[in-house]
Amino acid sequence: MNCTDFLSQLTDYFDGQISPELLAEVRTHLGECDHCKVVLNTTRQTIEVYRGNEIYEVSDELRERLHSAIMSKCSAARKQA
Ligand SMILES: [Zn+2]
Repeated sequence: MNCTDFLSQLTDYFDGQISPELLAEVRTHLGECDHCKVVLNTTRQTIEVYRGNEIYEVSDELRERLHSAIMSKCSAARKQA
C-alpha cells in the first residue's frame, strides 16, 4: 500500500466499511508513513468537529485537499531521503 492507496481507503476506514485485509494494510502503512498518520489524525479531528455539528461527511473537496497535502509531503520526504 502506498499513500494514494491509503487515501482511497480513508473514508471507508472511518465509515467502518473496510475489509479486515485492507485494515491490516492500512495499519502497516501507518506504521511506516508519518505523513499518513498525521493525515489520519487531522481527518479524525475534522470528522469529530463535523459530527459535533451533525454534518458527518467527508466531501470530495476535503478528500482532494488531503490528497494533495499527502502527495506533496511524501514527495518532499522522498527528496530529502
Ligand atoms: Zn503514506
